[in-house]
This record gives sequence, structure tokens and C-alpha cells, in this order.
Amino acid sequence: MNSYIMALDQGTTSSRTIIYDKCGNIVSAAQREFTQIFPHEGWVEHDPLEIWTSQIGTAQEALLKAGLTYKNIAGIGITNQRETTVVWDKKTGEPVYNAIVWQCRRTADYAAKLKPHEEMIRSKTGLLADPYFSGTKLAWILDNVPGVRAKAKRGDLLFGTVECWLIWKMTGGSVHVSDYSNACRTMLFDINTLSWDEELCDLLNIPMCMLPEPVECSAHYGDTVSVLFGGPIPITGSAGDQQAALFGELCFNEGDVKSTYGTGNFLLLNTGDKPVPSKNGLLTTIAWGLDGKVTYALEGSVFVCGAAVQWLRDQMKFISSAPESEEMAAQVPDAGGVYVVPAFVGLGAPYWDPDARGAMFGITRGTTRAHIVRATLQSLVYQNEDLLTAMRADTGKEINTLKVDGGAAMNDLLMQFQADISDVDIVRYASIESTSLGAAYLAGLASGYYDSLADIVASKEISKTFKPSLGEKERKEKLAGWHRAVKAAIAYHSV
Ligand code: ADP
Repeated sequence: MNSYIMALDQGTTSSRTIIYDKCGNIVSAAQREFTQIFPHEGWVEHDPLEIWTSQIGTAQEALLKAGLTYKNIAGIGITNQRETTVVWDKKTGEPVYNAIVWQCRRTADYAAKLKPHEEMIRSKTGLLADPYFSGTKLAWILDNVPGVRAKAKRGDLLFGTVECWLIWKMTGGSVHVSDYSNACRTMLFDINTLSWDEELCDLLNIPMCMLPEPVECSAHYGDTVSVLFGGPIPITGSAGDQQAALFGELCFNEGDVKSTYGTGNFLLLNTGDKPVPSKNGLLTTIAWGLDGKVTYALEGSVFVCGAAVQWLRDQMKFISSAPESEEMAAQVPDAGGVYVVPAFVGLGAPYWDPDARGAMFGITRGTTRAHIVRATLQSLVYQNEDLLTAMRADTGKEINTLKVDGGAAMNDLLMQFQADISDVDIVRYASIESTSLGAAYLAGLASGYYDSLADIVASKEISKTFKPSLGEKERKEKLAGWHRAVKAAIAYHSV
């Protein structure tokens, strides 16, 4: 019988299911958007039941579309929006509050109060004291939803990030687990001992009885209840979206690094079997747990990547589609000395300046839309290079290859400029669906669909490699111009 892997990709704005064959070809796919809830300025919520119904709906639809049954699926792998926090009743399965989404800033004051403990938080979790992570979101629910704390203390409530919630629902409430790559984003999990940390739970006043069992990213967690697909399917893989993308890009070895050029940009560097602390504003995180071994990563993010291209399209109206940015930029040989700093929502690593705002420098009477479009594309590259520089500094090692995925990675001009500025080979695989593929690979390994990592590598096809072609002097001059521009943008608001 033909056999496939089903990847559930539970994202921030939509739930998707993709069924893959062994070569990573898409056999069938389904997608549903769900409601974004904004109760107040800076607050973002999702309805956990809508996350569930949209996700399971796409899984059933994808199976049906492909004309397959549960018997054709060797395993289910999950990848998900990270840090988003759900609390539900153990007996009824009813969520006690909406899911608080990773983007939500409601706990900014709470996180600020944790600053004196930041060194301890960093050494145990690899994270900063920031409202982004699940810990303060969970504390908010316990403190603000009537009756919830008492119930939690009695052991009647469960906490989970999205993969945990989906596994619990799919197994009919019998399995309460969270994989290491998701657990490590809660600010409650010690990435050195691979366990929930009592001191952190005390600090945030979290009853430990509500926490899931931490598990590896590739393992048989349980089976779906038969009512969902007509029979049981083993659930055998789980990883947060960025770690799944790292796996999907085959960054299996220490020193491998990937960049996902989406709305924002996430860079992850595989640092092998040891967590590497960052002195340059990066996060230390678990990449995955597999076969009794844990692999760690350094993570950096850029808030505005493809979003800057959307800005060119929707606000500036310089282009009518994102891909047109390439055509437009190619009309000029260079940016004509223009630099765009797309700090629309502040600057992340390594600058960490939430108050910085965007700026444009070097404009002359001869500056055209094409120059500004080209300079905007180049800014995405410079921001990435800043993160690569931080990674080189934290590890003391060279980076020679960067693997890329995400919508804007389809832009050849952008990729060539990245190769030039970062002096690295850029590798783009034929399928840039690396997030869901990563989940499929993890599930496929535990279900015996793939024999080994080598089996996966053999199935993957490179579509294009971009080689650096810029001289060292020119590279340094361009980077120096960028750093002057960032400095000036920061100076503008700090007077
Ligand atoms: P996300 O998963 O964050 O929604 P995607 O990986 O789907 O993002 O990528 C979409 C983003 O990539 C958009 O912000 C869009 O502006 C940008 N984008 C898509 N195609 C191109 C292109 N050819 N050149 C530059 N940017 C692009």
C-alpha cells in the first residue's frame, strides 16, 4: 500500500495540512484561515477551539482530496506558531481563556519586573525576560481569569503551547506532551537539564502540575482517536516552526545555518550538542531532541523582512506585486548610494532598540523608485548579515553556507546580494516548504518511513546555489555605509 506523511502546519494566521511522499513532493494540501482577535491595543488572541477545528478540518480535507485513508499515513508531524499559550480544563477540554498569541505585548510590564532575574533566566532557558515567551502569558491567565488559579492548583487545568494542545485533542485527551523545541520557548524550561524548572515556576507562580511532559521531537507520542480519520494514525513528530524549518533545510550538522525570508526573518544556526550563550543579543534555543540526543541552536530575528516589500507595494505603490521588486531593482546597476533602514517597529538583534524608526539616507535629485526598491531589498540582506556577524562572534567560527527559504528567498537578485555581502554560498532547495517538510521528516524518522538522515538527504534536490562575487573592499564599504545609516537612524530618535 502507498504510504505518506501528513504534516500539520499550525501558523499564526492559518492552519495548513500537507501530505508528502517520500521524496518530499506535495501529494495534497489544504489551508484555512482563522480569526485574529485584538481585544485591546497590542493584545493578540486566537480561539483555541478554532485553531483545533481549522487544523483538523484541513487534515481531513487533505486526506479526502488525495483519495487516501488513515491506512496510507505512516505518521503525523506537527509544526506550529511558537510561544502561543493555551490553558484548558483537563476533564471537559474547554479552554479557560483565548490563546494568548506570541505577538501579544500585554505582559510587557510583568516581563520588565523580571529584569533583575534576567541572568538566571538566560542561563537556564537561553531566553531574555520578554513578554514574547509563554511564561508571563500563562501567569497572566492565572492572575486575571476568575477562578483559574484555584482550579490549576487543584490539578484540574492543563497548560500547553499549540502543538501540545493539538496532540491532546487528537489523542482524545490522553496524551499531554510538549516537544523540547516548543517547551524551551516558555521561559519555564531548563535547556541544560531538559526539565521544567522549579525556581522559574516559583518566580512566575506557576503550579507545576499543569505542565506537559517534555518529549523528543521525533517519537511516537500516541495515536489519533479513530473518529477523526476513520482509524488511528500515529503522531510521531513535533517541532516549533523555526526549528522545523532548520530541520527541513537539512541543517543537521554543527555550523549549518538557515534563513527564512518571510514577513519577518528568522536565522537559526545549529550549534551541535551544547547550548552556546550569546553575548550579541541572540537567543539560545533547542533545535530538536532526536534519538536520545539534543541539538541546540542560536537564533536571531529581523522584525521586518518581506514586510518591507509589502510596504513598497501597499504604502509606496512602487510595485504592484512582491516579485515585481526584483524586476524594478534590476533596472538600476546599484542602489545609487541610497540606504533604507526598515526599522518600522524598532530594531531587533544585535541593536535591540524598540524605539528606533525607519529612515532613508543618500537621496539625490537623481534617485528613482528603482533605487529605493533596490535599497530596500538590500536592507534585508544587511540585517541578515548583522545576525550572521553576531553568530560568528558568539561561536568563534566561520559561516560559509546559508540555506534559504520563505517567500522572499525566491528573489534571485536578493539572494545574489546576500551571497555577496555575507561572503557565503546561498543554497536554495527546490521546495522552499521547509517548515512543514521538517515536521514531515521528524515524523517520518520515528515512524520508520525514513531509515536515517541520509535517507532524507538523498530525497532532497537543490534548485540553485548563489556564489559570492563581490571584492572584499567593496563589500566592506557597503557594510560600513549600512552601519552608518543604522547609527544615524538610532541617533535620530535618541536626542
Ligand atoms: P509568511 O510565512 O511570514 O507569511 P512567506 O514565506 O509566505 O511569509 O513570504 C511572504 C513575504 O515574502 C511577503 O512579505 C512578501 O512581501 C515577500 N515576498 C514574496 N515574494 C517575494 C519576492 N519575489 N521578492 C521579494 N519579496 C517577496
